[in-house]
Amino acid sequence: HTECYNNLVSSYFLQESEPQLSQAEKQKQSIQEVRRSLPIFPYREDLLAAIREHQILVIEGETGSGKTTQIPQYLLEDGYTEGGMKIGCTQPRRVAAMSVAARVAQEMSVKLGNEVGYSIRFEDCTSERTILKYMTDGMLLREFLTEPDLASYSVIIIDEAHERTLHTDILFGLIKDIARFRPDLKVLVASATLDTERFSCFFDDAPVFRIPGRRFPVDIYYTKAPEADYLEACVVSVLQIHVTQPAGDVLVFLTGQEEIEACCELLQERCRRLGSKISELLVLPIYANLPSDMQAKIFNPTPPGARKVVVATNIAETSLTIDGIIYVIDPGFCKQKSYNARTGMESLIVTPCSRASANQRAGRAGRVAAGKCFRLYTAWAFKHEMEETTVPEIQRTNLGNVVLLLKSLGINDLIHFDFMDPPPHETLVLALEQLYALGALNHLGELTKLKWNFCYLLITDYPLSDVVTCSEEILTIAAMLSVNNSIFYRPKDKVVHADNARMNFVVPGGDHIVLLNVYTQWVESGYSTQWCFENFIQFRSMKRARDVRDQLEGLMDRIEVELCSCNGESVPIRKAVTAGYFYNTARLSKGGYKTVKHQQTVYVHPNSSLFEEQPRWMIYHELVFTTKEFMRQVWSRPSLCSSF
Ligand code: ADP
Ligand code: MG
Repeated sequence: HTECYNNLVSSYFLQESEPQLSQAEKQKQSIQEVRRSLPIFPYREDLLAAIREHQILVIEGETGSGKTTQIPQYLLEDGYTEGGMKIGCTQPRRVAAMSVAARVAQEMSVKLGNEVGYSIRFEDCTSERTILKYMTDGMLLREFLTEPDLASYSVIIIDEAHERTLHTDILFGLIKDIARFRPDLKVLVASATLDTERFSCFFDDAPVFRIPGRRFPVDIYYTKAPEADYLEACVVSVLQIHVTQPAGDVLVFLTGQEEIEACCELLQERCRRLGSKISELLVLPIYANLPSDMQAKIFNPTPPGARKVVVATNIAETSLTIDGIIYVIDPGFCKQKSYNARTGMESLIVTPCSRASANQRAGRAGRVAAGKCFRLYTAWAFKHEMEETTVPEIQRTNLGNVVLLLKSLGINDLIHFDFMDPPPHETLVLALEQLYALGALNHLGELTKLKWNFCYLLITDYPLSDVVTCSEEILTIAAMLSVNNSIFYRPKDKVVHADNARMNFVVPGGDHIVLLNVYTQWVESGYSTQWCFENFIQFRSMKRARDVRDQLEGLMDRIEVELCSCNGESVPIRKAVTAGYFYNTARLSKGGYKTVKHQQTVYVHPNSSLFEEQPRWMIYHELVFTTKEFMRQVWSRPSLCSSF
């Protein structure tokens, strides 16, 4: 069965195909009908019985079968929240936690934040009444600090386990441990149809409950030759589908915000040019930093006669299910973190996704009817150039924060921690070494009590040191760093104006001081929207920075650190940040910089306020590899403090 689409990009040819089983489901149903129609519904009783019988259960089911939205509701209906106990469900992604909680609140006709809530970093949408709590895996990890046995939970669902994020992997070890002395705690490990045998094996041969999928066949098309520009190829493919293919929505997988925005712009522009020659095409982006009202739009039903195209990161691979998708366009790439334990360099690189990912993506086309997946790569590349599965994050990331967290939980022997896949030895050693250098650990590798406060904040990724003369300013900087990549607005048609506006914020001392300056001026403007607009600053990011700052202030209050300002002096701030980050020192040498620790060549990012100045010594907040090894957020070593 081979079919040619000569109109499509470099023309696809059909590789595999299965017989068509059925046609599209009925469109509009009431929420309760939808609930009853989900693949998981017929297994409700069996599932609840299995949970009653076993403490730990692995649940496998196709994406969209109802695991995330239904299981917590079934448990609630079965009495697991009696006596004020909570059901917790972790998600690797913030967007998923928010969106799923919103959906479940809607299904239960309650206000989000009451009985059903979510908790993600810097945003706690729960209350005293919350009994179903969706949260990121990182937030549950942090809950261990205040409640080491998770006593307020009757059930923990580790969802999207197949994603194997760093935090999920750590949760596996911790939860397996507490399950031993909390026989009343139920643990459910939910995953798409991947890897479930391994989860079962890790959890002492816990039984696997399989929810049979209802999946329509998906025809897979490959390009005959590799695509030189996959973004352009995506745009062309969407338009080709729009004009040549029957009704049905389109899902495009790209690697990040910038690509997604570019793709959406191109699509909108071409549709405008085509005008009334084509029917309506609704172009909707979805990525982590998209405001939640925009995120919600992807779930709105497509109006009759129109077609929806959702341009997504791999958030739409398994975490979110969008009904009505018939066509998937898969360029075969994703953005992946990798870590060099020798140099301590973390990089975010666009790399080919794994075959497992590609198959999940294709599966999105076959949920409501038979679908088509257009792969923008060759069948040969699929077979020979892609990895079978994605390497777990724990094996390609910096472990500093996780080590600190585990130590704070009293887990000292990290070498023998129950990892599903242990991290590379060098990565663990480097993390310990860095924490020792910071004074967070003593020579025995134990947490130093003195620095407990410091640790607490470091867990939230922020620089803080025992220099407390400028804690007010440090809080602001920390808050600004959390939204850092989206503060300055640089529209394509006003690049010169935007860059000038940015230059106006430059003050001596480095990028942190510039961030502080932006925030201070905004406060002086009375948190003005107009001020942001005039200065090419993104109001939304500033508002977020303000929220984060408020939360950090609350945290400081809780650990009883008094806030103190250095009133416009920059040296105390630079000293404080240097003390926390002295490890990241680089020295000017022949055109670039060399890191002190590893003699690695690194560069000042062109966006940095110190790009021109090139001081002899620099300290950086992080190293990122994009086109080359860039230091992001740099500041020069304050000459007054020779002790650093
Ligand atoms: P799973 O976790 O097994 O992948 P989910 O529980 O996330 O499945 O989704 C089950 C179904 O719930 C989806 O197929 C979809 O019909 C519906 N659904 C989920 N989230 C939303 C949402 N935000 N808006 C509308 N429908 C949703
Ligand atoms: Mg799910």
